[in-house]
Amino acid sequence: MNDCVFCKIIDGSIPSKTIYEDEKIKVFMDINPVANGHLLLIPKKHIKDITELDDENLIYFKNIINNKITPMLKEKLNIEGLTIIQNNGYGQEVKHYHIHLLPRYQNDNMETRIEKENIKNVDLIYEELSK
Ligand code: 5GP
Ligand code: ZN
Repeated sequence: MNDCVFCKIIDGSIPSKTIYEDEKIKVFMDINPVANGHLLLIPKKHIKDITELDDENLIYFKNIINNKITPMLKEKLNIEGLTIIQNNGYGQEVKHYHIHLLPRYQNDNMETRIEKENIKNVDLIYEELSK
């Protein structure tokens, strides 16, 4: 039995506040939003993360975001920007590929960084990456 929570959202056994759906994807409201209008875009086919994502789907997601979701968010929520986050491995709670769409507004003070004291000097990291 598939106990993936997002597969259950797709088959309707877990309800969701869906704002867009077609044969390939579903876009619905995150149950625990970190921004006003925080949405999740998921493929209907279960894939784990970016390592299993094919080019065709990636382009499809981009086009839906550009042509359907962003215009709708601009019209209905007057968004001024859209921050896109997609977790893989550590940091990914639900192991069904999903894109976080986070509406942005001037002065919303969103923070997207690890704890400031854990940020190492850029030169140290660059040295590691360049070895
Ligand atoms: P991740 O940490 O995997 O990138 O994010 C998973 C997201 O899924 C979280 O933001 C969490 O609030 C959301 N989420 C988890 N379970 C459910 C659910 O049953 N319904 C909805 N709408 N969102 C969920
Ligand atoms: Zn799934």
